[in-house]
Amino acid sequence: MLTSIEGKSVIVTGASKGIGKGIARVFAGKGAKVLVVARHPDAGNETVDEIRSAGGTAAFCQGDVSSWESMQAMARVAADTHGGVDILCANAGIFPNVQLTEMNSEEWDEVLNTNLKGTFLAVKACVPHMPKGGGGRIVLTSSITGPITGDPGWTHYGASKSGQLGFMRTAALELAPHKITINAVMPGNIATEGLDGLGQDYLDKMTASIPLKKLGRVEDIAYAALFFASEEAGFITGQTVVVDGGQVLPESLMALEEMEG
Ligand code: NAP
Repeated sequence: MLTSIEGKSVIVTGASKGIGKGIARVFAGKGAKVLVVARHPDAGNETVDEIRSAGGTAAFCQGDVSSWESMQAMARVAADTHGGVDILCANAGIFPNVQLTEMNSEEWDEVLNTNLKGTFLAVKACVPHMPKGGGGRIVLTSSITGPITGDPGWTHYGASKSGQLGFMRTAALELAPHKITINAVMPGNIATEGLDGLGQDYLDKMTASIPLKKLGRVEDIAYAALFFASEEAGFITGQTVVVDGGQVLPESLMALEEMEG
């Protein structure tokens, strides 16, 4: 049993849907005060309503992770509403699928600005609001795509997700004197609204390629993030955990077939 995060102020970027919503729900369920951040207020406010209906504490903040002014405003809202920032879950991300030869520079920039620069801006904005005595926690949502695997149509995405880990390792060193840790969860394929858009055929084939024969749940990522955010994980920084049902393990299709007997 981990020490309670009850009463901690948590910011979750990209919390109106998918994995971020799962993180927000799980952290709020553990008694944290959650700031739900997204660009579109409707889905964000729905997340807040769901958390409040379940007895949790949450507020919505409209924010765009690719904007420095917006991230500064977000951190100020957390300070004013929830008394500071104990935990930042930098989760917002996009994954449009475009082949390299078709991709234009605006499409590249949009993904890098959201996923990578957005991580930097959220972290930079939140650090000054973290407890001066130490104990601040930052958890990034990276991916297996990029750091470990490749997937056609996602060169920009893979670069952004690998970039987050490069950013994290040096940030871990710079933040260590402030007793702030920064770690990353690397999800495999998680059942979210975002993946629904890729179609049933994609989902079926993806499920078949995962040794545990199911897509992950948003809670699977949330519990890994919760561990990194815990007091017990206080000696872990600059590290990653893969949460993918074993997806990166098979060396070949033969390995998967042999498992099935
Ligand atoms: P999702 O369901 O599409 O949700 C994305 C969330 O991010 C939404 O709340 C969206 O709200 C927000 N968002 C997007 N752009 C933003 C911006 N510029 N500023 C602020 N918020 C923004 O996505 P997901 O599948 O949960 O993915 C969440 C994270 O997990 C991403 O970093 C993704 O790379 C990573 N991941 C996902 C999977 C997976 O299988 N789903 C696998 C590996 C990694 P608004 O549109 O209203 O802003």
